[in-house]
Parts: sequence; C-alpha cells; structure tokens
Amino acid sequence: MAKERVGIMGGTFDPIHNGHLVIAESVRDAFSLSKVIFIPAADPPHKPAMIDAVHRLRMVWLATNSNPYFQVLDIELKREGPSYSVDTIQSLVEQCEDRCEFYFIIGADELNILPEWHKIEELVTLCRFIIAKRPGVEADMSRVCEMLGEAAQRRFYFCDTPELEISSTDIRKRIRDRQSVRYILPQEVEAYVRKEGLYL
Ligand code: ATP
Repeated sequence: MAKERVGIMGGTFDPIHNGHLVIAESVRDAFSLSKVIFIPAADPPHKPAMIDAVHRLRMVWLATNSNPYFQVLDIELKREGPSYSVDTIQSLVEQCEDRCEFYFIIGADELNILPEWHKIEELVTLCRFIIAKRPGVEADMSRVCEMLGEAAQRRFYFCDTPELEISSTDIRKRIRDRQSVRYILPQEVEAYVRKEGLYL
C-alpha cells in the first residue's frame, strides 16, 4: 500500500507569517501531501527566539486553523533541552509505524546551513527534504552533497513556490517601528500580537 506523504514545517515562527503559509500550502499541493504539520521549536539551537514559545505556538495555531490540511504539534515544547529536528522526526517515524513518509519543508536559506544541523546524516535517512524558493537566496546543494554524498542527494526535491520577501526579523522591526504589517502577517496573528503587546 502507498504510504501517506506528510509534510513537516519546522521553525522558530517568531512570528509565523504569510511566507511560511504560502510555501507550506504550495508544497502540499505540488507534492500531494496529505497534510502539513507545523512544529514550533521551543529552544532552537541556531536561533534564540525573541518571545516565549507559548505565544509562538498560539500564533501558529491561529494562522493555520482555517486550513484543513494544516496541523500543529507542540512536541518540541514538551521536550526538555534544545529542539533538534532529528529527535522530533525520529519520534514521528516511530509513532507512524512505517505507514508514513515525511517531507521536511525548508526555505532555500535553510538548505545552505543544513550541514550544521544536529545529526543531519541521520535525519536524511528518516525524512526527505523539499526546498522552497526564498527571494534573494540561491538554493545551493554543493555543501549538502559534499557532506552527505550523492545517494543522499536523491532525498532532496525542489518546489517552484511563490516568492514572498517576508521574514520574521523584518516583521519584528516593523512592529517595533509602528509600521503596518497588514498582508504580511495573517490577520488573526496581527490581532494577537497587538492584543498581547508583542515585539514592541
Ligand atoms: P527570522 O527572520 O527570525 O530568521 P524566518 O522568517 O526565516 O525568521 P523561521 O521561522 O526561522 O522564519 O523559518 C522557518 C522555515 O521557513 C525555514 O526553513 C525558512 O527557510 C522558511 N521560510 C521563512 N520565511 C520564508 C519565506 N519568506 N520564503 C520561503 N521560506 C521561508
């Protein structure tokens, strides 16, 4: 029987924005994924978060709630210590008992630093990667190939996603500078940020 194809969107989501949502939806559609699971990192090893994980989780939930193909998992918030994707995917693989195939969706910027991910050799055996476009960044497989070899290369796919020049860093700055974030942040997320007074 064909395995269920499940997308994974990991991130700091500080805050989640329309750039994340558009790549998740367009990869889901292009690769016929049954769903995309958003997994906020509690304690991202490469990128300290600006605000508490509980706020980030709530915003992810608000942003994804209206899409029936999107789910949110708080598995990394429940675990002690740094949020390593390899531990997360390992536990998902165990839970699904060989019925699912996991596709980790990342932006082109993340591909370029993938060799620095914790136990990346092991992670590549547990899931496949789908690389989304990101404005101003060239997706370069050379470092990945050098580190993981030709065989691993077959587990990487590229997707022609719409390019939105949006980043959480820019959004945080806009909020601090009292500039509009309309059409950059999902409406529900913007309302939450305002209500809680985040990023000021
Ligand atoms: P920051 O500005 O704080 O570095 P970010 O906007 O890159 O944050 P993350 O939560 O770190 O957001 O990103 C999670 C994943 O989403 C990463 O794989 C990243 O490459 C991807 N991503 C984020 N924004 C975009 C975008 N606009 N286009 C394509 N991919 C994106």
